[in-house]
Amino acid sequence: MRELINAARIAERVRGLGAEIERDYAGSPDLVLIGMLRGSVCFLPDLMRCVALPMRVGFLGIHRYDGTVGGDLRLSADETDNIAGADVLIVEDIVEHGTTLQAALDLLRDRLPRSIAVAALLSKPGALKHPLPELRYVGFEVGSEFVVGYGLDFDQRYRNLPYIAALEPGDAAGS
Ligand code: 5GP
Ligand code: MG
Repeated sequence: MRELINAARIAERVRGLGAEIERDYAGSPDLVLIGMLRGSVCFLPDLMRCVALPMRVGFLGIHRYDGTVGGDLRLSADETDNIAGADVLIVEDIVEHGTTLQAALDLLRDRLPRSIAVAALLSKPGALKHPLPELRYVGFEVGSEFVVGYGLDFDQRYRNLPYIAALEPGDAAGS
């Protein structure tokens, strides 16, 4: 395990993103943050407490059936209220190819929100399969390595690490 972003840097960046979001949505009559399960389990609660605006919070779970890239996507959880006319901000842990987010955007857009945008803690630049203009807030860019911690898992483990780390070959055994 190699630490890439320590807890203090994450906290500082999340405060910065919160300030941007607070400024951009200051006039919104109905702001709804939708956390993507389960990776946003750290990012969403930290981010929402850095945005001093009235808001609602919901959750959406979208998974690949077989865990492989390009596999069919499945809706595993939909804990959202009516978002018609609302300003929706999807909160995601990491964007790689953009497939998961595209599915979430398509699903939520059908419910006729007034606006829809995405805040992702991490992104892997160059990995996007198609442009994602809704990706308005990005915390950090990471390389192509597999990262864990601060909500991100490997096989459901490591989500509770307070920092972001790159997984190394020895870690994958679960040691
Ligand atoms: P996409 O659909 O953008 O290719 O994949 C995004 C999803 O894949 C993320 O929500 C996350 O669940 C997973 N993912 C992509 N890269 C990583 C990574 O480096 N670490 C972890 N833990 N998950 C990743
Ligand atoms: Mg995810």
